[in-house]
Amino acid sequence: PVYLDYNATTPVDSRVLEAMLPWFSEHFGNAASRTHLYGWTAEEAVATARKQVAKLLKTNLKEVVFTSGATEANNLAIKGVFEKYSYKGKHIVTVATEHKAVLDTCHHCEQLGGEVTYLRPDTNGLITPQQVAEALRSDTILVSVMYANNEIGVIQPIREIAAATHAGGALFHTDATQAAGKLPIDMAEEGIDLLSLSAHKFYGPKGVGALAVRQGVELTAQLDGGGHERGRRSGTLNVPGIVGLGKACELAQKEMNAEAERLCRLRDRLEQEILANVPHTFVNGKASQRLAHLTNICFEHIDGENLLLSLKDIAVSTGSACTSASVLPSYVLKILGLTDDQAYASLRFSLGRFTTEEEIECTIQHVIETVERMRVGSAV
Ligand code: PMP
Repeated sequence: PVYLDYNATTPVDSRVLEAMLPWFSEHFGNAASRTHLYGWTAEEAVATARKQVAKLLKTNLKEVVFTSGATEANNLAIKGVFEKYSYKGKHIVTVATEHKAVLDTCHHCEQLGGEVTYLRPDTNGLITPQQVAEALRSDTILVSVMYANNEIGVIQPIREIAAATHAGGALFHTDATQAAGKLPIDMAEEGIDLLSLSAHKFYGPKGVGALAVRQGVELTAQLDGGGHERGRRSGTLNVPGIVGLGKACELAQKEMNAEAERLCRLRDRLEQEILANVPHTFVNGKASQRLAHLTNICFEHIDGENLLLSLKDIAVSTGSACTSASVLPSYVLKILGLTDDQAYASLRFSLGRFTTEEEIECTIQHVIETVERMRVGSAV
């Protein structure tokens, strides 16, 4: 089989695994143990990882809070700001095409008396800084806009949106789960107050991530206990996971440019060949600036489920893995204006570090033949 679902998750890079291994049994100390070498050693490893994350995001290392992933980071950012700043206001602005980890957290705030504006993007998935500016109110405390969309890869104008947010006196959070390690990010320069990321999206382990918080931004902790992470997230630190996240950041920083270039070439070839050889296809979000390693293609007049089944040797997805337990069509694609049938018949191909040219050639052939076979006998 060919794995083209890197947006769902990535394999752990062998260099990351190697960096993690000593931290399970050999150096097993609790990073919060301040009284002996075991603890100090673990604490040092965590400090190194914190530097590696901070360097990737060009931020201050005091600002990195380790979490169990991006879901938790998003929860901490949104609920943490909502609770802390509710004395100023209870209005949040976000986008209808955000990941459920943001949308459902916003719904939670609504249950607690918050008000949320869900901006609607254009047919390419983009929102504008003007839309944000117009949605801001005197009681807006937070704007949360994802850096790059997990389903279609559209990259939002983050710098301009952050500027509009700050002009209105609110804080700016971005769910950068699909952008971190893939795109150069400079938190300070781009005006990002809070940023969520997850190690397993860029060759680190699952179950570990971080929320980067600009100095001066306050948060109400969502996990209370021993006061770890400067009181922002209690719980004994997952040292091997954190070491892995740090290593993944270091590798991404060095390799992201060359990697993006290589993957963009492969992605373009895949996309162009499918569009040229399979009638009734179009790319979702193509007209926007988007991630280099991803294409989301709609195969019109084809039953999406059958298509996925027929392509079972190629691991791709419809919608995001996190919501694929439901049989509903992708809400993201529906918001872009697709019909249910078009959304069901849209496949996301996401490439990654270990994708080869041969795999792409094989995928092109397989997709062309499969769709042709499925369309035989039908009018289109
Ligand atoms: N946000 C986005 C944009 C994502 O793609 C994902 C993973 N599907 C998440 C958040 C959740 O991340 P995690 O798996 O680390 O909880």
